[in-house]
Amino acid sequence: MSLVLGAVADDFTGATDLANNLVRAGMRCVQTIGVPDVDLDLGDVDAVVVALKSRSTPAEQAVADSLAALAWLQGQGARQVFFKYCSTFDSTDAGNIGPVADALLERSGGTQTVMVPAFPANGRTVYQGHLFVGDRLLNDSGMQHHPLNPMTDADLVRVLGRQTPHPVGLAARPVLAQGAEATRAHLEALAAEGVRHVICDTLDEGDLAVLAEALVDYPLVTGGSGLGQALPEQYRRRGWLAEVAEPGRLAPAAGGALVLSGSCSRATLGQVAHFLERHPGIALDPLALAEDDAHLEAALAFARAHLATGGPVLVYASAAPARVKAAQAALGVERAGELVERALGQLARTLVDEGVGRLVVAGGESSGAVVSALGIRQLRIGDQIDPGVPWTQAPLAGREAPLSLALKSGNFGGEAFFSRAFAVLDELTEGSTA
Ligand code: ADP
Repeated sequence: MSLVLGAVADDFTGATDLANNLVRAGMRCVQTIGVPDVDLDLGDVDAVVVALKSRSTPAEQAVADSLAALAWLQGQGARQVFFKYCSTFDSTDAGNIGPVADALLERSGGTQTVMVPAFPANGRTVYQGHLFVGDRLLNDSGMQHHPLNPMTDADLVRVLGRQTPHPVGLAARPVLAQGAEATRAHLEALAAEGVRHVICDTLDEGDLAVLAEALVDYPLVTGGSGLGQALPEQYRRRGWLAEVAEPGRLAPAAGGALVLSGSCSRATLGQVAHFLERHPGIALDPLALAEDDAHLEAALAFARAHLATGGPVLVYASAAPARVKAAQAALGVERAGELVERALGQLARTLVDEGVGRLVVAGGESSGAVVSALGIRQLRIGDQIDPGVPWTQAPLAGREAPLSLALKSGNFGGEAFFSRAFAVLDELTEGSTA
């Protein structure tokens, strides 16, 4: 069977979030980092999510990157294309949701697309076109203070209207309540009036199911990862998806178990403390990293010694706010971050070369640094460890077993996340060997 869904995601963690939901709903999924420049062996894969960094780039660049991703996905025969952005509709009047949606719609040959940002399971809902985060309107949710894309207007029809020259319509909840057919008829009536973009209300999973049914034949849909939960059931009804008992099953894992943590979020600090009570770990200090290579060498030696005895072992720059502030005051915010990210990347590259095969990374930026140091371009998505954080696997040149990789953004995961991760991987791959 050919590719059913091809997604273009405007950032890395957003891509993983969508991929994770697709797997949970029964699709076998690969996430790529950027547009692949080589042919991938997609074998049994139902969905590919291309992760771009197009949320905050200039609109022109975001459009060019998104069109390149679309062309690649179309080349793989994707039946439906999904433009994925944040469930808080992160964008500015300059874009990039409007310009990218316009370009993708034009190129994919459709006359209309929809915007379904809601993710009810995470408290993101839309009513009468207004986006809510929990019980707050978007512009009163904290998002009005976002450093890159402050969201100061919760009326998405108005927000999108400032990003596109085309008229923007609304599929409101009373229409959805009448079911998929009535919703489709409403969308068609809007299309007949020339409405190219339709913001869709969504209060709950039931609304997502109605929307998915109404939208399954659209060449292009856009939204958050919530819609990704609902679409696979429609693909199944069409006979596009094979019944797969365990879409998140991964290949047998092998190699040493390492945790690298560069996140200083409260959740991660708790996870680090919990892990250190049970397993060995060593701290990285940006001030010492700035001096010479001795500090990094010492961390490497510590990790090697413990990996040799079976691991798992932790190397962490994670520190309480006062220590982070002190490092930032001495080195500058950017340099402190860079030193840590570079060190984590070097540790990953060296230790994976030496046989680490199971790697957990904490921190969004930290994960980006590690993935790029390892030269990873594609991830097969497995079952999740905790909500939103799946195990993944990437092929490793010269090694039979792939690298098993879990990339956790700061605030995700329960307290026992690091230790749990390896136990979940064992179950998921039916036993792994060090
Ligand atoms: P999160 O997902 O929690 O935001 P990130 O990895 O995205 O985590 O961001 C954390 C940032 O903090 C990274 O740039 C990292 O290099 C930096 N950092 C980590 N530890 C320290 C530290 N001890 N002092 C200063 N900066 C640090």
